[in-house]
This record gives sequence, structure tokens and C-alpha cells, in this order.
Amino acid sequence: MADKMLGYAPEWTYDDSIPMREPIVKLGRMITDRIPIVLGIQKITKQDPEYWAVATICPTDEMAEVAMRMKKRHPRTLSDMKKLVKDMGMTEEYLLNLLEQMSENGLIEWNYENEQHEKQWVLPMFVPGSGEFSNMNKALLEKHPELGRFFERMTRLPLEKVTPMVPPGGGGIGMHVIPVEKAIEMENEAINLEKISYWLDKYDGKYAASPCSCRYSRKTYDEGCADDPEGWCIAIGDMADYVVETQKGGHYITREQALEIFKQGEENGFVHQITNIDGEDKIFAICNCNVNVCYALRTSQLFNTPNMSRSAYVANVKKKTASPAAAASSTAPPVRSSSVRSFAQSRARSSTRSRSCLTPISGVPKSGKKNTATRTGSTPTKPAPRPVRPPARRTSRFRAI
Ligand code: SF4
Repeated sequence: MADKMLGYAPEWTYDDSIPMREPIVKLGRMITDRIPIVLGIQKITKQDPEYWAVATICPTDEMAEVAMRMKKRHPRTLSDMKKLVKDMGMTEEYLLNLLEQMSENGLIEWNYENEQHEKQWVLPMFVPGSGEFSNMNKALLEKHPELGRFFERMTRLPLEKVTPMVPPGGGGIGMHVIPVEKAIEMENEAINLEKISYWLDKYDGKYAASPCSCRYSRKTYDEGCADDPEGWCIAIGDMADYVVETQKGGHYITREQALEIFKQGEENGFVHQITNIDGEDKIFAICNCNVNVCYALRTSQLFNTPNMSRSAYVANVKKKTASPAAAASSTAPPVRSSSVRSFAQSRARSSTRSRSCLTPISGVPKSGKKNTATRTGSTPTKPAPRPVRPPARRTSRFRAI
């Protein structure tokens, strides 16, 4: 698929009077997952997003130095941080202030996931990570709209060479579609990880509605949709605190409000996705994605690699109960889950009356680590779904909550 944005770089990167900052080059190389750069085959230039975007969200070389010492995805408590910057002559107050600025720009994140429940800072990857976080900071994005393209670039460049190798379950990359819970609630063996309620229980009481960074990003280069970007991403657990406390436009919500947002998402044909990079015991967001703008779903479509996003459930057509007339004229895959349905039918809006149900597929674990879906036998028969989703409401007419 042609890459329309190939070679994009902000104007200032062509200005020879602006010197290249070596700490930014090193930091960009440390964070990126782009294989030619990781392998040392390709050098980072000023026109690479690993340079110009990192230079923007990391405005001082001092920040870059601190970030490099943290190393990618190593949680650091305050005492760890003090040791790391011991020779940099910072007071604790100065260091905390610096970490705060880096968090607001989306360069780093934080959580309390240690035994003593102590705050710890993490230098994340680009996606999911600083790509999303920088795009959720509305003021930053308005000042630097090129960060919208940064997020787009980092959802594509690191993945275009590896997606064919992604195993069922996503291999710990990106996002993972989960069904609308009603579609699987009758299943005795329904997989816990595939249920929104499982995650809401696990992170009980810690939810925040936050802006959708994909929708925000797309708007910066006029490929957005009519949705109001606010409130579709439900940050959970410590991430809820992060999006509220670091200028990411997040606000705390109740479980009932979260369920209402999921319901509105389903009514609009959006797809529920959870993050998929931390194994099967942790997620940090439940998204309500519009298939027309979501970068995670786009990656699967761009490279024809559904394993990147797929749910552990697939449609199972009961041929005996399918209506012959409808089956004969049908081309769309009949599915029960409106999350899957919206994904499929947004591509092929034809109707079907085939009776179908969702079956957990064998060997599709979350994160590709452990099989949680084992049942491959017969499936219970449930009432067929309405063949065609009612027209989606205009989402621009209301905010998520
Ligand atoms: S994954 Fe979905 S809800 Fe989350 S930022 Fe992207 S489109 Fe928005």
C-alpha cells in the first residue's frame, strides 16, 4: 500500500542553521523499534520522526540525557532516579519538576506498579507510548501539529516489515479487539480477558475518559472523521491518574459512565480494543475505535495481517439454519459481535441472515503468551443478530459523556 506520508518532515528540519542535537539522535535510536535503525543499517537523520518528534517533545538536552539513563521500559522510582542523575547536579525538587514536564509532553509515563505502591517513571516505546501521549496533550498538539504525523509514522514504519510474522494473539504488539460482551455472555467458557467486565472489575474504581489520540492525530492532516475525539479512550488503573494529572485531557468517571461510553461506542459501530503489550495480566486502556481512523486497526488492514488485531473469537456460521435466500445473496461475513460486525461490515455493507455465533478460537492468546482460548468444538446456538446495523448516529452531535 502506497505510503502517502513517506518522506514527510517539518520545514525546520531542512534549515541548515539549526544544528542536529546528538542526545536526541541517541534517544530516538534507543526508543525506536524501526528495524533498520535498531540493526544499525540506517542512521537517523533530521528528517526522521525519531529525530524531529523527539526533539519536539524533549526540548532540552538535559531531558534527553535523563531519559536515556532511564532506558526504555525500565520503571524507576524516585530513589532510582536520584541515583541515575547523581552526577548531574540536580536537587530533588528540580528532578521532580523535570520529570513532570517530561510526563506532560508524553515523553515518559508513570505508574505505581511495585510492591510498595511507590510512584515510578517509565520511558515508553513510541507506540503505544509517546505517540499517543503527545497527541493527547491538546495544547502541545495545537502548538506542534506535526506530532499528529509523528504518531501516524510510528504506527506504520516499525511495523511494515514485521506484521506478516505476527502470531495469533498479536505477539504483544499494539491492540487487541475484544467482542461486545453481550455476544459472549452466554458462553460458559467465555474467556475472561475478552470481557470488558473482567477489566473493569480488575481495575475497580480507577477509570478516566480521555481523548482519542488517533482521532486527534488524523485531524492534524485533514484525514479525520466527524467524531468528537473526546472521551472515547477509557484509561484504567494507574493510567487513569496519568491522563488526569499530566495534561492529557482525562477526567475520572464511574463504572456506570464507562459502561455508557461503551454502549454509545457500540451504537456507533465502534470496535472495542484493549492494549496488548504487557502480557495477559495488565492493560491500561479500553478503546472505542472508529475503523476509519484507528491506526491499530489500519495496520492490520494495510498489511493484510489480521493477527495484529484479532479477537480470540471468530464468526461460526451454522449452515443448516442459514436462510438460503439470504445466504445466496450474501457476501459479508456473518458475525454476532457488533464489534466484529462493525469492522467487517464497514468494508462490505451487504446483508446476511445466516445464523452465526462467536466461537473462541484455539491458539489465540492475548499477547501470544499463553493459550486461554481452548474450546474448538460445537458452539451454542443463539438468536441471530440483526442483519444490518442501524445507521450510526452522528457522533459529532454528542460528547462521549
Ligand atoms: S486505539 Fe481506538 S480509541 Fe484508542 S486512540 Fe486509537 S482509535 Fe482512539
